[in-house]
Amino acid sequence: QAKSATGSGIRFFESSMQRAVELRATLEQQLRHALPNNELHLHFQLQVDNRRNIIGAEILLRWLNANHGVVSPADFIPLAENTGLILPIGQWVLETACAQLQRWQQDASTSHLHLAVNVSARQFRQENFADQVKEMMNRFNINPALLKLELTESLVLIDVEDTIQKMHSLKELGVKFSMDDFGTGYSSLSYLKRLPLDQIKIDQSFVRDIVSDKSDAVLVQTIIDMSRNFGLEVIAEGVETDQQLEILQRNGCHAFQGYLFGKPVTLDEFEDLLGQLPGKIGISGKSSHHSN
Ligand code: C2E
Ligand code: MG
Ligand code: MG
Ligand code: MG
Repeated sequence: QAKSATGSGIRFFESSMQRAVELRATLEQQLRHALPNNELHLHFQLQVDNRRNIIGAEILLRWLNANHGVVSPADFIPLAENTGLILPIGQWVLETACAQLQRWQQDASTSHLHLAVNVSARQFRQENFADQVKEMMNRFNINPALLKLELTESLVLIDVEDTIQKMHSLKELGVKFSMDDFGTGYSSLSYLKRLPLDQIKIDQSFVRDIVSDKSDAVLVQTIIDMSRNFGLEVIAEGVETDQQLEILQRNGCHAFQGYLFGKPVTLDEFEDLLGQLPGKIGISGKSSHHSN
C-alpha cells in the first residue's frame, strides 16, 4: 500500500480520485466480458410518422452489470471506443438488427419496419466496414433500405473524404443514413450538401425547450426547412409532450421519437406495442411519461 498524504483533505482527494480511476479500470475489465457473459441487451424505441403509425425503431444498447446495475451507454460507449471493444460490440448490434429485420420481413404486418443503428466512429473508420455490412446484407438476405445507420457530425469530421466514400459504397447497397444529434456538432452546410444522407435527426436538446424558447423554436424550424429543401427526411428525437409534437408537425417534421410515444423497451415489449391500434400510440402512454 502506498504512503498516504498527511493532510486529510488531500488524502480524501487522493482516495476519491483513486476510486474513480479504479472504478474505470474495473468497468473496463468487466466490459471485456460483457458480450460473452450476455450482459449486453438491446432496447427498441419506436419511431412514428405524422399519423402516429409506427414506422420502425432505434436500437439502443444497455449493459446490465452484476455489480453496478444498468450502466448507461453514455458511460460505457466511450470506454468501449477507447479500448476497441466497440468493434465486436458494434458488430453484434448490427448483426442483431439484421436478424431482427429478417424476422420482421417474413410477416406482412411487420415487413415495413426499419431499424436505426448507432454507428461509432471507430467502427465506421474500419477499412472493411462497408464490406462487413455487405456481408450481413447477404447473410440475412434483408431489404437494405430498412437498415438505417446513424452517424454523428463528429464522426463525419474525423475524415470527411473517407466518410463520403464509405457512405457512397454503402448507399450502393441500398442502406440508409441518418445524421444523429443534428445541430450539436460543428459540421458545415457544405458537408451536408456532399454527404449522401437520407435523414436528419434533430437533437433532443433543441426539442426540449421548443415550446418556451423562441430561439430554439427558430433553430428547429430552420433545420426542418433546410433539410426539406435538401430533399431529406426529418425526424425529431426527445419528443415528450403534445405541445412539442404540435409545433414540430406544424413546421413540417416528418417523423418523431420520444417518451410521448414510448421509452426504449425490450423486443417483447416493442412487439406488444406493434399490436396496438396505430391511433393509440402515445395516447395511452401519456400518463406513463409523467410518472417516470
Ligand atoms: P442517441 O443515439 O442520440 O439516442 C437517443 C437517446 O435519447 C437515448 O439514450 C434514448 O433513450 C434517449 N431518449 C429517447 N427519447 C427520449 C425523450 O423523450 N426524452 C429524453 N430525455 N431522452 C430520450 P440512451 O439509450 O441512454 O443512449 C445514449 C447514447 O448512447 C445514444 O444517443 C447513442 O449515441 C449511444 N448509443 C446507444 N446505443 C448505441 C449503440 O448500439 N452503438 C453506439 N455506437 N452508440 C450507442
Ligand atoms: Mg441515435
Ligand atoms: Mg440522437
Ligand atoms: Mg444524443
